[in-house]
Amino acid sequence: METKTKLGIALAGLGKYATEQLIPALRLTKHCQLAGLVSSDDEKKQKWKQECGLKEDSLYGYDDFDRIADNPDIDIVYIVLPNAMHAEYCIRAARAGKHIICEKPLAMNVEECYRIREAVSEAQVRFSMGYRLHFDPFNREMMRLGQDEVFGPVRKMELLDSMDIGTESPWRIDRERAGGGPLLNNGIYCIQAALYIKGKLPVAVEARFAPVTNPGLFKEVEEGLIWTMFFEDGATAQCETSYSKNQNLMRAEGTEGWFELNPGYEYGGLTGRTSSGSMDLKPVNQQALQMDDFAHCIMTDGETRVPIEMGIRDMKIAEAIYAAAKSGERVALHLEEFGGLPEF
Ligand code: NAD
Repeated sequence: METKTKLGIALAGLGKYATEQLIPALRLTKHCQLAGLVSSDDEKKQKWKQECGLKEDSLYGYDDFDRIADNPDIDIVYIVLPNAMHAEYCIRAARAGKHIICEKPLAMNVEECYRIREAVSEAQVRFSMGYRLHFDPFNREMMRLGQDEVFGPVRKMELLDSMDIGTESPWRIDRERAGGGPLLNNGIYCIQAALYIKGKLPVAVEARFAPVTNPGLFKEVEEGLIWTMFFEDGATAQCETSYSKNQNLMRAEGTEGWFELNPGYEYGGLTGRTSSGSMDLKPVNQQALQMDDFAHCIMTDGETRVPIEMGIRDMKIAEAIYAAAKSGERVALHLEEFGGLPEF
């Protein structure tokens, strides 16, 4: 059998993230390359096919997506579609025998996440979440400073990730296609940061919905959410996400000092400071490293640091945050099954 030196990635969805971030990032990768496009827009597909020098038979629509099983140039399908389509395309990609990268959130709810895991496990394909920040040196430094208790045990975190969404992304405020509002988009990064800075699983959450300032836009999903995650040792993470303002803070306070990124969740331009000075780190292309790492894991039978369980865990936490906001009660989390994830 021929051993590949680069794995082929097909992008399912040709929206903003796929065309503005992933296609440019793929040009920088060492272990993978663009090998296919899935979209219903023929004009868009032709344009990108030419620009990226793809083969004629590398283009798929949603209806004939399953033909992808017969294309040996495509090893991985990267799902970059609205959230409501993640489960269907992950499952179809698995049944086509392709490895999968899925954008966050993994799906619309925990039940869908389990269905994806079942399909992945039945097909024996590999799976990676599209969690790019795990490959970013500034975020990795936050993990190290927190988990190694460089400034003493972390007692308090402030994690704010919000974007003023305007009207340009209608599916994001449509419950049927997004599953939820900013919590399932930017808020997932706050959940992630709390866990990877502390290096522990939270035990409970409290939450409230932010007041609706734009009822015309936010009819179906929350405009904003403010929540607290509690850890067993008494540490807390105060979090906020919103679709009507811009925030990008990731801050942690230990018993002997503090460390923060601001901005902390962007693709680039991250800036880090600590109570003993600034973080002097070289920026990277997060998406290129993320895709390369997964391709390398597949080729070497290694473990991805962003496995499907991480996506399931984060969806469980998000569902608990929604339940806490709806009930006004503290909701206990039982996440013991996720204790072995690579970040801890
Ligand atoms: P987008 O709206 O720019 O693109 C969505 C794509 O899906 C478009 O090509 C659109 O034509 C296609 N599509 C197919 N059926 C559709 C339908 N019924 N309604 C709307 N679009 C439909 O969105 P995006 O910003 O590229 O987001 C896509 C996915 O990527 C989402 O899951 C999002 O959470 C994720 N994302 C991740 C990051 C990150 O930093 N990791 C950043 C942005 C988006």
